[in-house]
Amino acid sequence: MKKLIVANWKMNPTTLKGAKRLFYQIKTGIKKYSHVLQNIKIIVCPPFVFLPSLSQMAKKGKILLGVQNFFFEEKGAFTGEISPSMLKDFRVKYVILGHSERRKYFGETDEIINKKLKKAIEKKFKPILCIGETKKERESKKTFKVLKKEIEKAIFGIKNLKNLILAYEPIWAIGTGNPCKPEQAKEVLIFVKKKLKNIPVLYGGSVNLKVAKDYIDVGFDGLLIGGASLRPKEFVEICKVCAI
Ligand code: PEP
Repeated sequence: MKKLIVANWKMNPTTLKGAKRLFYQIKTGIKKYSHVLQNIKIIVCPPFVFLPSLSQMAKKGKILLGVQNFFFEEKGAFTGEISPSMLKDFRVKYVILGHSERRKYFGETDEIINKKLKKAIEKKFKPILCIGETKKERESKKTFKVLKKEIEKAIFGIKNLKNLILAYEPIWAIGTGNPCKPEQAKEVLIFVKKKLKNIPVLYGGSVNLKVAKDYIDVGFDGLLIGGASLRPKEFVEICKVCAI
């Protein structure tokens, strides 16, 4: 199976010009190394507003597009929301769901995430479901209990999990420059793989070039990358080391 390298740009960059430049730099970097990147799938998840331009730029290239969220209804009186169907014209295939920042800042509950996941599967997206524990939960040895609950609630009532991708993102590691030790992450990987058979599992949380390959080496199927995906040279290098 190809390794998945997912770029979560979050709410960056702040201009269309900046988004196009970043995408171009990643695209050209990847093209240069296309011979070594055959075993890798690269997915960029930009803010919604950049999709019209970036989907044009992604034509004929290797980069696939994803989004960082969507709503679980098709259309109607849901001010400020974007529906899955609206994204199909921009060839969006992937959607990140349940990111800890959405849970924390936008009040996304396990029930909301479950509805979004159902919709994603119904609409034939490949959902990347994020799970992760806080520092306090890890210190009080509740990691596995928390992850089990997040998984069970998210997939409740869903039979067809064939397109599901899971991302283990310890909350204490996200954006802190303090990635989870690969051996620690591996314990979670084993736990998750036992629970959900044949589902790719990614690691995310302060991944940088120095540590990226370590997660692949302990068995992860890819990476979810925030900060380092905004540094095009480093991002391309990460893709390269994970391909070898
Ligand atoms: C993320 O938010 O999905 C993430 C992994 O961020 P970072 O790499 O910046 O920790």
